Amino acid sequence: MDRRSSAGVAAHVADPFRRPAVDLRSDTVTRPTAAMRQAMADADVGDDVYAEDPTVNALEAEVAALFGHEAALFVPSGTMGNQISLRLLAEPGQEILCDSDAHIVTYEMGAAAALFGLSTRTIPGGRGRFELDAYVPQVRPPDWHTVRTAVIAVENTHNRGGGSIQPFDELKALRAYAAEAGLSVHCDGARIWNAHVATDISLAEYGGLFDTLSVCLSKGLGAPVGSLIVSTRGRIASARVLRKRLGGGMRQAGVLAAAGRHALHHHVARLADDHGRARRLAEALDGHLNAGPETNIVVLDVAGEAHTLAAAARDEGVLISVVSPTRIRLVTHLDVDDDSIDRAVGVLTSLLGGAPGGANRAAR
Ligand SMILES: *Cc1c(COP(=O)(O)O)cnc(C)c1O
Repeated sequence: MDRRSSAGVAAHVADPFRRPAVDLRSDTVTRPTAAMRQAMADADVGDDVYAEDPTVNALEAEVAALFGHEAALFVPSGTMGNQISLRLLAEPGQEILCDSDAHIVTYEMGAAAALFGLSTRTIPGGRGRFELDAYVPQVRPPDWHTVRTAVIAVENTHNRGGGSIQPFDELKALRAYAAEAGLSVHCDGARIWNAHVATDISLAEYGGLFDTLSVCLSKGLGAPVGSLIVSTRGRIASARVLRKRLGGGMRQAGVLAAAGRHALHHHVARLADDHGRARRLAEALDGHLNAGPETNIVVLDVAGEAHTLAAAARDEGVLISVVSPTRIRLVTHLDVDDDSIDRAVGVLTSLLGGAPGGANRAAR
């Protein structure tokens, strides 16, 4: 069977029989390193539903401290982290304001509505960038007539915005506004590590701006599974209940937490390498660049069929994501080295040669 003929899902799924040489679809595709696997094998474990897994407890304490918060909770996915956080901050029937392209309203299967009765209202922003002035007029105060706005959620870095970094001054202004207006602020910080490395703003400075954060270990940090919710002790106690209700209570999860701790200790500073490689990709393909990469994600506009291009690149051993019929996404990560970038640039420049931006621009 021609695998390209089964459109949609198949176009995004790696051929299990031919290991792709360069996988730029996402920073979730990394496999644990040998050292990480060793840390997993050596992990001291217990039953985490009893809060008795020492490695999970250590990971939670460490991540809470990094963000300057009281407590943290290990959860299986960033989606669960985001959705539990939103429910902690809003009651059923209340609303969340967020960017139109936010992960929480794009890739989380309508969970806020489907699971928790939360309504969402979205506001378009350039590359997902938060601007307080666009939000303030949309906030509905508590009264007996209108849906109450309970939460403003921001995403840092912004996935569909191409890894864009939220402007720190806007986030600070949001914190001050939220305090005054009686709103809560959530950060989908799946890639907050990338923002931290790119800006040198500390994780604690970021942490101080939000009531809840959800941070992923399984994106650029390269752990196989896991995210954490970071907040106050009281909210994290409630989050444990919600996690169990959702089926996210895990038992000897220290094996996974050990991978996360290893990632925190060894894979944060190296995100700068991913950012450098994203810049190399962007420079080589700049005739197609949708916007300059700020971190590890490069978004390109392509004439014609993005799916056709992705299929042709796959045949050359380079996997890329299609994010719209005319747009592709390349993500650098732990399993992409300089040679991989050279290979991807070679394949993509030859395939994109005749498209807007001009042939061989990349050859400079
Ligand atoms: C990947 C991601 C998440 C969480 O995804 P899971 O697959 O549920 O772990 C959340 N937010 C953003 C911005 C992401 O990119």
